[in-house]
Amino acid sequence: MVIVDQHALHERILYEKLKRRLAEGKVASQQLLVPMPIELNNQQQGVLERAKEVLEQVGIELVDFGPKAIAVQSFPAMLGQADPGAVVQDIIDRLAEVPAGMSGEQLLEPVLASMSCKAAVKAGDELSSEEMSQLLADRKLAEMSSSCPHGRPTMLKMSLAELEKQFKRI
Ligand SMILES: [Zn+2]
Repeated sequence: MVIVDQHALHERILYEKLKRRLAEGKVASQQLLVPMPIELNNQQQGVLERAKEVLEQVGIELVDFGPKAIAVQSFPAMLGQADPGAVVQDIIDRLAEVPAGMSGEQLLEPVLASMSCKAAVKAGDELSSEEMSQLLADRKLAEMSSSCPHGRPTMLKMSLAELEKQFKRI
């Protein structure tokens, strides 16, 4: 019997997919019908300025939206179900914690971590049987599917013998 942490597994799958797309070039993005505005303070503005190229690589395009705000204009097509505003807000929060001297390349890791975590299904989300099958099929494609990007396990295995022991049959 295998017990799956659906959030951790989905997070790992998205993380690897994003990395694979990046290795091939740029992550394909989709223009939003309505740009999503996000308010910024000065520090956040500075951080976003430095991360602009990295964000474009991963398919997130931001445009100025007044003096103290930006708007999400394009978002990766492969993260279709995610809320672009919430993902970008999380990226901004994470980048604000990154030390000031970090280069664009070093900003990629926290950006990918944020995107895959925010776009993944939540632990309590109810999945349809197709969604579950898809997740398990994708598991075989993801290279390090046994742990999430933070290093937590994505699944636990329990043998029949262990189960029988728990039920005190042996
Ligand atoms: Zn997560």
